[in-house]
Amino acid sequence: MAVYDDKQHQCRLCGNYYSDSDMSEEHYPARNTGNEDVVAVDLGKMFDTFISESVRAEIGEKLNHGEPLENITGDIFDTQLSTSLFPKGRTARTLCRKCNTFLGKYDEAYLRFFNLDGNPKSINGFQQHTKYQIIKAIYAKFLSIPEAADEAFDFIDFIRDNDSTVYNGNWNIYFVKRDFSSDLLGMKDIRTGKITFDEGVVYELSDDKFIFNLMNFPKHSCFEMTNLFDILKKNYKLVEGVGESGGYHAQVFMSSIFNANL
Ligand SMILES: [Zn+2]
Repeated sequence: MAVYDDKQHQCRLCGNYYSDSDMSEEHYPARNTGNEDVVAVDLGKMFDTFISESVRAEIGEKLNHGEPLENITGDIFDTQLSTSLFPKGRTARTLCRKCNTFLGKYDEAYLRFFNLDGNPKSINGFQQHTKYQIIKAIYAKFLSIPEAADEAFDFIDFIRDNDSTVYNGNWNIYFVKRDFSSDLLGMKDIRTGKITFDEGVVYELSDDKFIFNLMNFPKHSCFEMTNLFDILKKNYKLVEGVGESGGYHAQVFMSSIFNANL
């Protein structure tokens, strides 16, 4: 390799330019929140597989030999339908080492929230400072998603100041806790995405427990979600699931399947 790549990467947080070796692998979502070995499931192939004659014959034969159905389908799922997409989790070289280290303490605060399932009763006991770190952790994660690479966000100063409690910009974050309504067949899909409305743009990022949407307009009132800043309040309401409409999540999910199969 030529030594040509000097300082060609711009850090998404501090804005400075660095050489490849001074950049780091940022996990989005954070490691330990379901972002380790990310598996891709081919849904189109899944439907084809389960209606195919040969697979049905194979299942029938195994059933005759007394093998439980869930073992058989689990086997097919593992061997034929899922491929390891990101063996080390989803990462991007979007931050310099210094900024990645700086954001590490926000990730730690978020991990405490994650491990307590965002339960309002437990989170009420957190210091306000920790709650702001949780909020900043999620805003910061959106800096690293590929769909937002060209977006100039107005919350950089808010994130970079560990003591700031003021953000008056255009970007809102709403979230829900995952449940059966958000996850087809219980598969927790943590792909990122972007959808565009007349009102503005919606980005999505999720982990094993929560789905987050960052958007530059107030959410549509038909979608029930918790505003991320509500965690600062006592007894905030944690919305579980995406409801019958599927919310933004269903639209992001469908559009990504659609694009993948084009
Ligand atoms: Zn930086």
